[in-house]
Amino acid sequence: MTQDELFKVLVAHCKEYGFIFPSSEIYDGLAAVYDYGQMGVELKNNIKQYWWNAMTRLNENIVGIDSCIFMHPKIWEASGHVGAFNDPLIDNKDSKKRYRADVLIEDYLGKIEEKIEKEVAKGKKKFGDSFDEEQFRATNPNVLREKAKYEEVHNRFKAAEEASDFAEYRQIIIDCGIVCPISGTCNWTDVRQFNLMFSTSMGSTADGANTIYLRPETAQGIFVNYLNVQKTGRMKIPFGIAQIGKAFRNEIVARQFIFRMREFEQMEMQFFIKPGTELDWFAKWKETRMKWHVNIGMGAENYRFHDHEKLAHYANAATDVEFKFPFGFKELEGIHSRTNFDLGNHQKFSGKKITYFDPESGESYTPYVIETSIGVDRMVLAVLSHAYKEEALENGETRVVLSIPAPLAPIKAAVMPLVKNNEELTGLAQQIMNDLKFDFNCQYDEKDSIGKRYRRQDAIGTPFCITVDHDSLVDHCVTVRDRDTMQQERVPIAELRALIDKKVNLNNLLRNL
Ligand code: ATP
Repeated sequence: MTQDELFKVLVAHCKEYGFIFPSSEIYDGLAAVYDYGQMGVELKNNIKQYWWNAMTRLNENIVGIDSCIFMHPKIWEASGHVGAFNDPLIDNKDSKKRYRADVLIEDYLGKIEEKIEKEVAKGKKKFGDSFDEEQFRATNPNVLREKAKYEEVHNRFKAAEEASDFAEYRQIIIDCGIVCPISGTCNWTDVRQFNLMFSTSMGSTADGANTIYLRPETAQGIFVNYLNVQKTGRMKIPFGIAQIGKAFRNEIVARQFIFRMREFEQMEMQFFIKPGTELDWFAKWKETRMKWHVNIGMGAENYRFHDHEKLAHYANAATDVEFKFPFGFKELEGIHSRTNFDLGNHQKFSGKKITYFDPESGESYTPYVIETSIGVDRMVLAVLSHAYKEEALENGETRVVLSIPAPLAPIKAAVMPLVKNNEELTGLAQQIMNDLKFDFNCQYDEKDSIGKRYRRQDAIGTPFCITVDHDSLVDHCVTVRDRDTMQQERVPIAELRALIDKKVNLNNLLRNL
């Protein structure tokens, strides 16, 4: 299966098993808006809990807040979003489809990278053990040709980005022969700027209405509460404020499922520090956040940093944590050194003094900020795309399994009586279920054959299946099947809780941080 096909299968799987549904589906859906189903919401909540606890419980100097989506419209002037939160868009005149010009070029560069990797893989296959990858990359003519092409386009693109030269964006697209995937033509309009904020009005009459925006990031809710939290929490610098909440962006192109949505959720933490210490803290948070990711167990090789060459208007250093999605390495989280841009501007626009008095040095200053910002939905997609596997079994059948890291799995254990028409078995199974449900999210399932029930649980990523059979009534043991190994073992009912807990308890993940 190609990665493209795999991605389509994953999207269908998410719908079939209650993870993610297109929004308003009975009305044919709403572009780039998705709802989480009964399984999806559990996975999402577990991810949020892992993040929230890692931030607010493991760090005594980080506290959480929950600010509103609606905020004073001036906030978005101060933050620079009214003036500068734009994407460069381009239309194909034949298909009438709209694209982000920068993404078209980035995808083109991504394809060249893929070609290089394919050449290397071919070389590896051909030369076997004697393969010297470094030498191959430095000498193979096909690799060198693609590399040169990459460098040339990349350099032009970076220069155009730096200069916000949109005519050059278009020229690169034309020179590279990038065509619209729908019409297959290179008949492009000029590149234009497009503001991504959604607006609505507040107030009961049209006359008195104020234009307000749906927040495009949660960060500003933290900045405008900086003084409140610092004073009421008696926080000393360095300290952080964390928040999880919805954000809205009128994305020009919103394909790739929940990777790019118009309504999504962010987990953001703003860390307030003394000016001059920002690069040290930036390095520290890069390391901390990467550790948080790798700790989940999805393979360190699937993550990488991508340092920004062009910095946002507010930043003096920035990097992305990229994850290897089925469509390539893409941004999962952003880490930014935001200077005192936001607090400084809120001070200017609001007229309120926003500073910190350092009791030790006796100085007052506007704190600098390191931000870590991760999309919950992108994290859900990372987990699901990594977890989805089709495995050939010894009996010739295939099983679909979601090997979701156990502490994040929506259902931790399924309790099943071997047969449903035996009251003793169903009674004992219900009793086990009623006991375990206070500690774990469990599912009781008595329909269909045991084999089918195992498949259903594999498909939603349940780490344990617990089967109650006739012997259980006598020996007080049950059969526990492990999702990943499919191994079965007899376990005393009294030991079930400890066995499950060892594998699924989120605290075990947190302890490794
Ligand atoms: P991109 O370059 O992919 O548009 P960005 O650099 O604009 O992302 P940030 O503003 O840094 O993203 O937002 C922080 C995080 O929020 C991103 O790393 C991503 O995980 C998430 N995010 C941003 N936009 C979206 C979206 N439209 N849908 C889902 N998640 C998003």
